[in-house]
Amino acid sequence: MHPSQQREILIFIICIAASGLAGLIIGKALLSITAALLIYTILSLRNQFKLHNWIISRDGESIPEASGLWGQLFNEIYQIEKETGSNRARLTNILQRFQEAASALPDAMVILTKRNKIEWSNLAANKLLGINHPQDNGQPINNLIRHPKFDKYMRKNDFGKTITILSPNNPETQLTLQVIPFGSSQKLIICRDITHIMRLEEMRSHFVANVSHELRSPLTVLSGYLETLQDVKDLKKIRRALHTMHEQASRMERLVTDLLSLSKLETQPSDAHSNDVNVPAMLLELKDSAQFMSSNKSHAITLQQDEKLHLYGNRDELQSLFSNIINNAARYTPQNGSIKISWETKNDLAVFSVTDNGQGIPQKHIPHLTERFYRVDIDRSRETGGTGLGLAIVKHVLERHDGKLLIDSDLGKGSTFQCKFPAERILIKQPKCNLDLT
Ligand code: ADP
Repeated sequence: MHPSQQREILIFIICIAASGLAGLIIGKALLSITAALLIYTILSLRNQFKLHNWIISRDGESIPEASGLWGQLFNEIYQIEKETGSNRARLTNILQRFQEAASALPDAMVILTKRNKIEWSNLAANKLLGINHPQDNGQPINNLIRHPKFDKYMRKNDFGKTITILSPNNPETQLTLQVIPFGSSQKLIICRDITHIMRLEEMRSHFVANVSHELRSPLTVLSGYLETLQDVKDLKKIRRALHTMHEQASRMERLVTDLLSLSKLETQPSDAHSNDVNVPAMLLELKDSAQFMSSNKSHAITLQQDEKLHLYGNRDELQSLFSNIINNAARYTPQNGSIKISWETKNDLAVFSVTDNGQGIPQKHIPHLTERFYRVDIDRSRETGGTGLGLAIVKHVLERHDGKLLIDSDLGKGSTFQCKFPAERILIKQPKCNLDLT
């Protein structure tokens, strides 16, 4: 027994004994004990009422006053009430934080009851699944996700795997969905937007198909020639075959080189900030080599440039960018055509521009030219040694140099390719001059 209870019993016995003794003195012992018991009962009743009133008034603060065991009882109830209150506040806080965190998640989350009715959902569930919290709480989940695959998944009750469905909100959005059972037969639905991943996967498989196709054609030519060469005795025919085989091997080599450049641009971090690239010197070399390459077409190639205009960037990447555009102009411009190259500042930007009066490009193709393996005319591209990757490389290099590509073309009249670099990349340097002092 608790000491305070022992004390209460002791007080009670003393009171009864004292009233009995007093009663004996006045000769009315029974009456005196009955009176003492009545007083004790009245006091207990009063404290019981105080406790009841305190509980129904739900006034946690003003604790009733009493002496003895009752006082202690009030105190203990008050302490329990206080602890429960702070526990409740702590749990409410944790729940609130959990709901805030779950709402901020990009994945949709929906909690279902035992009977597959919505109990709670986060913000992303509204975007991906069209489920609104709290309006849709209590609705059967199958009413909101109407999809045969989802119905079957729920009926099967085997949630080890995920399923892929289209968003009920937007048929363009692909979702993966998984049900995770928890607690006593409750379920949590987690759903993620995988449209981007699916697109990447599609691009990857197109890319592999394109590369295989591009490599298969020269390989077929090579193996065909190798087969027929075994029986050919005519030296002239052998030479012609060897020439074609060499061309096809070079085509494969160009393709592999371009593929490697692209993969480097896509995977390696950019160091295109620190180096001073002498663009005027680079363009002079590129112009000369274009002139040499297209000597059989007698192109009139001109270069107008600001000798002081350097760029912060990666030398090899910029060389590949400029040469792709200049070589394209040379490849797609017929005999005696003109190609104008310029490198100067316009409106605080550094602008590289190549204008040709070649065959031009139909408008509908222009937005696609930087896609890998996109060609307006496949035969013409291959005839001139194209891989279909040049402008894809240009696009990547420009992205790494904060630049922009602008293409303007008139069918039959010619095209202009412009690359614009921001002012932060410009570096003005005086050209070195060789003074002849003799
Ligand atoms: P390719 O190796 O086929 O030239 P690119 O990516 O360099 O590949 O160019 C994509 C396509 O853009 C080319 O196939 C060609 O049809 C078109 N093109 C690029 N530059 C020019 C140009 N200066 N004049 C006409 N067409 C061009």
